[in-house]
Amino acid sequence: MASEPASRPEPPRFPLQAARGVKDVLPAETPAWRRLEAVCRDLFARYGLGEIRTPAFEPTPLFARSIGAETDIVEKEMYTFTDKGGQSLSLRPEGTAGVIRAYIQHGLQQEGLTRLYYLGPMFRHERPQAGRLRQFHQIGVEVLGPEAPAVDVEVLTLLADLFDALGVNDLTLELNAIGCADCRPPYVAALTAALDALEGDLCANCRRRRVTNPLRVLDCKVPSCREATKGVPLIVDHLCAACAGHFAQVRAGLDGLGIAYTLNPRLVRGLDYYTRTAFEWTAPGLGAQDTVAAGGRYDRLVEELGGQARPGIGFALGVERLLTLLPEAPPARPDLYAALLGEQAEARMLPVLRELRAAGLAVDRGFDPTASLKAQLKRANKSGARFCLILGDNELAAGVVLLKDMDGHAQHEIPASGGAQAIADAVRAATP
Ligand SMILES: [Zn+2]
Ligand SMILES: [Zn+2]
Repeated sequence: MASEPASRPEPPRFPLQAARGVKDVLPAETPAWRRLEAVCRDLFARYGLGEIRTPAFEPTPLFARSIGAETDIVEKEMYTFTDKGGQSLSLRPEGTAGVIRAYIQHGLQQEGLTRLYYLGPMFRHERPQAGRLRQFHQIGVEVLGPEAPAVDVEVLTLLADLFDALGVNDLTLELNAIGCADCRPPYVAALTAALDALEGDLCANCRRRRVTNPLRVLDCKVPSCREATKGVPLIVDHLCAACAGHFAQVRAGLDGLGIAYTLNPRLVRGLDYYTRTAFEWTAPGLGAQDTVAAGGRYDRLVEELGGQARPGIGFALGVERLLTLLPEAPPARPDLYAALLGEQAEARMLPVLRELRAAGLAVDRGFDPTASLKAQLKRANKSGARFCLILGDNELAAGVVLLKDMDGHAQHEIPASGGAQAIADAVRAATP
């Protein structure tokens, strides 16, 4: 190996590949994405949610404040850059911060109850592995204003309905209550005292978290940490009366609607503005990255970001993970493939093809009028088209077009004088 200085950038080698950890979504895959998005949009509209679209980048301090300056996301995973004006900006690593920023900035707080949803790409510089991409997609919901337990129940009901509508039915809803500004500090003090006694049994991460973020020790996945922390105090046993009452009403609401859940007293959120209800939907068979949707109450976030205090609750679901659980979407299928034999046939049909598309039919075609009928039928077959429209010298002379049923092999002659309308009618009459 030649000893090049390590700092010299490698010259680009063409053709270039996409950046590491990102993924192209190709036409064969987009039908599944579009179906998921359409099901979400339809259901969210029925729940009274409005769509919000916030920028892909925000001033860096927004994320430091909302996600926490000492979290892995902000410390290690954000794509942060200084723009030409000298401002520090970051690609959004999640959606809530930008939504709450916009909520405050545009005075949506005045409306009392605000229901929002968003969908789009998020960016984190993580080690690429199965189920983790550096550009990944989330669909999220935020409901701001009332702090009633009925809001929590409605948000969870919406998610249950969404998974139903998508045909995903083996998910587990894990539920916990994580307290408020009144009951959590004394609980965290009790937890910290218990963890102090266990220090030697904890993993290196947890020894650090014990000081910076003791709640997160509870959801450490390292088996020895699980074992060591078996007997530590749990927040559910330390809730104040208001938090305990809220949790009881959320559970009663879910019970009343027949929405199953598992209590997970170790389900926590690391940041102070998270309050009360916390939840995750997990899927068996996704391995270590088994969380499909995660969310909860954040009654103190709006205030934390400089707005008037407003309770809120929300969730985000991981699109790529959810897609792996969905049944495969059938590929898009054109209604017609136009096999045009010869330049005269092509010229004659150009306005007709345009009218057929205007009438709502999906029309595919090739661009080589010298290709044989056999070759064009082969392409029609490959396109998956339901019908093949055939026009050659014989048909031109006879004043007809042929409509070949690609499923049933029947062939209809349609008078050319009927134009696009006659063809569209024949296609519609034969398509259920
Ligand atoms: Zn409380
Ligand atoms: Zn640990």
